Amino acid sequence: MRIAIGGIMHESNSFSHTRTSLADFQQQSIYYGEDLIDAWRHNHHEMGGFIEGAEMCSYELSPLLMASATPAGPVSADAFESLVGELLRRLRNAGNIDGLLLALHGAMVSEEHLDADGEIVERVRQTAGPDLPVVVTHDFHANVSERIVRHSTALIVYKTNPHVDQRQRGLQAAHLMARIARGEVKPTQALAKPPMLLNIRFHNTSQPPLVGIMDALRQIEENDDRVLAASFAGAYQYSDVPEMGPAAVVVTDDDPALAQGVAHRISARLWEQRDALIMHLPDACEGVKMAVAEHSPPPVILVDMGDNIGGGASGDGTALLQELLRQRASGWLIVLCDPEAVNLCAEAGIDSEVTLMVGGKYDDLHGAPAQIRGRVRALHNGKFEEREARHGGVRFNDQGKTAVLAINAESSTEENYLVLTSRRQPPFSLQQILSLGIDPAPRKIIVVKAAVAFRAAYEPIAGRIIEVDTPGLTSVNPSRLRYRRVRKPMWGLNGVADP
Ligand SMILES: [Zn+2]
Repeated sequence: MRIAIGGIMHESNSFSHTRTSLADFQQQSIYYGEDLIDAWRHNHHEMGGFIEGAEMCSYELSPLLMASATPAGPVSADAFESLVGELLRRLRNAGNIDGLLLALHGAMVSEEHLDADGEIVERVRQTAGPDLPVVVTHDFHANVSERIVRHSTALIVYKTNPHVDQRQRGLQAAHLMARIARGEVKPTQALAKPPMLLNIRFHNTSQPPLVGIMDALRQIEENDDRVLAASFAGAYQYSDVPEMGPAAVVVTDDDPALAQGVAHRISARLWEQRDALIMHLPDACEGVKMAVAEHSPPPVILVDMGDNIGGGASGDGTALLQELLRQRASGWLIVLCDPEAVNLCAEAGIDSEVTLMVGGKYDDLHGAPAQIRGRVRALHNGKFEEREARHGGVRFNDQGKTAVLAINAESSTEENYLVLTSRRQPPFSLQQILSLGIDPAPRKIIVVKAAVAFRAAYEPIAGRIIEVDTPGLTSVNPSRLRYRRVRKPMWGLNGVADP
């Protein structure tokens, strides 16, 4: 048995004016052919699961292409055509294959295709013919389309957020693929979507309402042999596309009525809990006040929801930095993406005093640049390794040339650290800080530019976590963004306290 593996993964923030280019993929990760196997084999990612599956399920691998880029604006038409063209070229030249395992994020938008993942699977289907088994994996933040469900043989979605089961889902896909290829099962699948937005604030799969839904999915998969996979996607609310919104996808062994019944039951279960999904979060001023007044053991984690790098925001938002300075907070740590400021620190050299305008340079949605005076404490190449299962499943990370500024250093415990990076690096790993010679645990306040995904790394050290309704491309308050293309009516779209 010979199985092709490949993937193109991007989460595209359609409110962003930037375009994700081929260079962005090249800077992040593109591997072809056999190189793909060496690069991904050990990652806590479905691609690692596809590769491990070869041994467990006795299939040979035919590696095609694996490309991913950090979430940002829609993928340029050029980059999309170039990547998909290469994937299909390699698929055509793969020789005799018995199936394709395909890793797609599920929330990719390109300049020309609002449902870019659906476009990929439709072209794969046209290239491979109607009979080739194509098992697709999606991120939990997928906006699942009818088109994907129609053209794929089976779809499997991560069951955790933070995503720590990616490799497991890859293995699940591999096992299912082997059964399909051996002719043991004949998958059919159904999709159901409640007419609502499930705000990212509620995407923690260890908390209600999702914890119950995820448990139910696991039980269905375990107890009912006719169900081959039962998934739920929370969706990605920063893509203004008709597919936006949570979804249940159920794959059964040749039982369309059962697939539909289970999918609708899961979808209805979320819809019925919508009244518990109304939220009230502090703004930057109030959030910093709460953090300063907190008496629980440190650190307090302030979550900069509007500048969620993993959701495609700039990573240079200054709303919380400005408030920490204004309220004269101490013992804080912030990581901010500002390549220009990093260069100025590097030119000045270690131990120099510098005065800089930092952040707020990407666009006009993430606050104004903040004036900072501090001492260059460290300079670093920005590379770090994460060996644990963390959100994103990336082991070798590169946040680009990095500078650490010490600010208001009257005593070491009161010292504030501003970490300036050259690349937008989401806070999925404590190694991002530890590799710079800073222990985050005793800090009083740490700002993370994230929503939920940081929790796998930060919950173990956090005294308290305060989510803050800050401005930005990933504002947690949907009424701050102008939606034009989503399905309407959509419950939850008009703000934090939508009836
Ligand atoms: Zn995700």
